[in-house]
Order: sequence, then C-alpha cells, then structure tokens
Amino acid sequence: MEPSISIRNLSLNFGALKVLKNLDLEIGKGEFLVLLGSSGCGKSTLLNCIAGLLDVSDGQIFIGGRNVTWAQPSERGIGMVFQSYALYPQMTIKGNLSFGLKNAGVSRDEIEERVRRAAQVLQIEPLLERKPAALSGGQRQRAAIGRALVRDVDVFLFDEPLSNLDAKLRADLRVEIKQLHQKLHNTMIYVTHDQIEAMTLADRIAIMRGGSIMQLASPNEIYMRPVNKYVAQFIGSPS
Ligand code: ADP
Ligand code: MG
Repeated sequence: MEPSISIRNLSLNFGALKVLKNLDLEIGKGEFLVLLGSSGCGKSTLLNCIAGLLDVSDGQIFIGGRNVTWAQPSERGIGMVFQSYALYPQMTIKGNLSFGLKNAGVSRDEIEERVRRAAQVLQIEPLLERKPAALSGGQRQRAAIGRALVRDVDVFLFDEPLSNLDAKLRADLRVEIKQLHQKLHNTMIYVTHDQIEAMTLADRIAIMRGGSIMQLASPNEIYMRPVNKYVAQFIGSPS
C-alpha cells in the first residue's frame, strides 16, 4: 500500500485534557478511510490536525510523503467538508465554488472549467446562479462538497457531512459520495458516528475511543472479528 497520509505518534492536548494519544495511522493512496466513534472520542480533533486547523502537541503528519506537521492548511493539498455547510450566504453557489480559487490566483478560464466540472459531477449545474438560501439541505451539502472538489486535490477530509440531513437524503448522498470516490479515486478520510455510514462507505474503518484507535480493519473484518467487547457492541456484531 502506497501511503498517502502517515500519522506518526500524534498527540494533542487541550490544556490538561489529552484528546489524542500517540496515534499512528497510515492511509493508502485512493483509500476511503472512515474514522468511527462516539461523540467526544477525538474524531474532529484528528481531522483538524490533519487539515492544519489545530497545532499538534507531539508527533508528525505526512501527506504525499511531505512532512506537513507545521504547514499552513492551504499548503497541505487537502479539501475539507464540514458538518455545517459553511457556504457564504451572500454569494451565489458559483461564487462560493470560485472564491477560494480566485484567492489562490487560479486563472479565470481554469476556474470556469473546474466549477463546470464539479457542478456536473454533483448535478448542481442548474443551481450555480442561486444563493444558498434558495437551495434545499441536500443541494447545499452538494455545493459544499463542490467547494472541496474544485480545489483539484488528492485528499478530501469530510467531518460528518450528512449528519444534519434527514434519513432519506442521508441515504441518497451516501450513495453519491461512494460513486464520487469510485470516479475520482481520491484519498478520503471520512468522520462519522454512524455505523451504517461507516460500513457502506469505508475501505477500512478506524474505530476510535478516548483519543486512541481501538481497531483498524475492513468493515467485514471488524464486524466478524471485533477486537473487544466495546467494538463488538458499538458495531453491532453478532455475538
Ligand atoms: P468528536 O469529533 O469525536 O465528537 P472532538 O474531537 O470534537 O470529538 O472532541 C474530543 C474531545 O476534545 C472532547 O472531550 C471535547 O470536549 C474536547 N475538545 C474539542 N475541542 C476542544 C477545544 N477547542 N478546547 C477544549 N477541549 C476541546
Ligand atoms: Mg466531531
């Protein structure tokens, strides 16, 4: 497995609170890795460290072989999608998708092309001139994914992108995200506390608890051979 991301001995403390504890994790190029665990176990913190939105207390992060532990978020070659859509309300969807690229000095033609391509993949072409308020929840979340897609990066970080949506929409978008990954072959780290989401999306699942990874394996392996009682109960393995 050619690693896309390597996390070595990563720790993060908020004051006296040890949130991540000596984590080691290798994510393969093109792999869909799901970080699964109950609320407060450190999933978002780990993702934010990888994205460069939090400074680590100890350890190192490599992306594409490059040590990015102290690199700015914009220098890490990642796109991130959050739980809340975080679209700019005053801009059109097209404006939202273009914004980061303009700032990064990408040419106008190139921006047009990338926005068109992302909108096509996500089926939001007819919505480009609308503002976020005129979109449904699912359309907004597609637009938020679009904003990560246009960055043309190899690594995507998703933090519970579907948890604000109703069950039907969540199921639909789950399928779309899976198809998107099969089309793009990007490296994906996807955070969720939803077992079904993890089982359907992941190549491998990392089960987190209390700032550590308890088990890292394929969905089938975790389901059939959970390493302990906690994992078995959490994943709903047959006993
Ligand atoms: P998850 O995403 O798995 O729900 P988080 O990574 O958000 O968990 O949080 C892990 C732990 O760190 C929790 O106990 C949370 O209260 C704590 N925490 C998160 N962010 C901060 C912060 N900025 N300051 C202090 N504690 C924090
Ligand atoms: Mg979280």
